[in-house]
Amino acid sequence: MTPTTVALAGSTGSIGTQTLDVVRAEPERYRVVGLGASGRNVEALVAQAQEVRPEVVAVTDATHIDELKARLPACELRVGEDGLASLGAEADVCVNGVVGFAGLHVTLAALGAGRRLALANKESLIAGGPVVQRARSTPGGEIVPVDSEHCAVHQCLRASDPAGPDRVARIVLTASGGPFRGRSRAELADVTVDDALAHPTWSMGPKITVDSSTLMNKGLEVIEAHELFGVAYDRIEVVVHPQSVVHSMVEFTDGATVAQLSMPDMRLPIGYALAWPDRIATPFGRIDWSQLDRLDFEPPDHEAFPCLGLAYAAGRLGGTVPAWLNAANEVAVAAFLDGALAWTGIPDVLNAVLDRHDGTPPESAEVVIDVDRRARQVARDEIDHR
Ligand code: MG
Repeated sequence: MTPTTVALAGSTGSIGTQTLDVVRAEPERYRVVGLGASGRNVEALVAQAQEVRPEVVAVTDATHIDELKARLPACELRVGEDGLASLGAEADVCVNGVVGFAGLHVTLAALGAGRRLALANKESLIAGGPVVQRARSTPGGEIVPVDSEHCAVHQCLRASDPAGPDRVARIVLTASGGPFRGRSRAELADVTVDDALAHPTWSMGPKITVDSSTLMNKGLEVIEAHELFGVAYDRIEVVVHPQSVVHSMVEFTDGATVAQLSMPDMRLPIGYALAWPDRIATPFGRIDWSQLDRLDFEPPDHEAFPCLGLAYAAGRLGGTVPAWLNAANEVAVAAFLDGALAWTGIPDVLNAVLDRHDGTPPESAEVVIDVDRRARQVARDEIDHR
């Protein structure tokens, strides 16, 4: 079998390193031809490049470019956001594990080149949804979600083939509930950064871990599900499931609910997105049924976790409102991580920023980028004036 070529944007992050685990487990099947990262973690990037020997290495930050040239003489080096985005067209599958809004360029480049996009970058669909939808119509351009919930939904939806999406009654996204599940709003008043970063089931980067603690991560995933699967917001529900074993469910029109279960291990959705419509041979996240004694489900607490409702509201408003919310959330989370904003201040800032959205329609990537920039400024103003 000719190996599938893989380009990996965000290679030194959590999704990137786990993608390399999958490639190591299936060496005959996959060959990494491009690696991309910020370039600030030189040692990690050089070690990856020396191991997988890609043709191209792209970095968004040029600070260490001379060192990279010296240590990776066999690789073509590309610099800047365009350099990173160019990876999208470089391989059969592009894994987009870039954190934050910067991932939009990679998404558009991969889809525009008619490649499969294994998408872990949520912001592409949340902020750039309308723009990404247009790029998705390029022949060959397809998205297979790497986010565990959406990957689960993608798997569940196959149960209605060939009738398709008309047979979907609702999508049920599961949420672990994060480290603060069960606490009231009053009990959340003085939680610390360390508290927020102590996720009970998933090991992820700091931004997404904070988003899990506020349930904003789930709110953004609701928008992501709407964009990916074209299901109305009224038919996308969230249920808290602390064990993170049921990764999401689809209820069909006949009342049947199909769920995807596995232990929380991102290598499963990564392998699924690489191999789809086939499956890899290496099992990740296998369940030991002798150890799994219960699966719990409860409704989310909207009062203690108002970010979930803010995301639904932004999604329903559509246009550039999700982009506006997403940008403000990145700023608010960064301020929280820096100690400049209380955890309970995150939804308060977002509420104030949402009130200042100006109704700009999402005509192009440039417009979305401008909306993102302005929302960040508005969020900084709100944080500074608290
Ligand atoms: Mg997720």
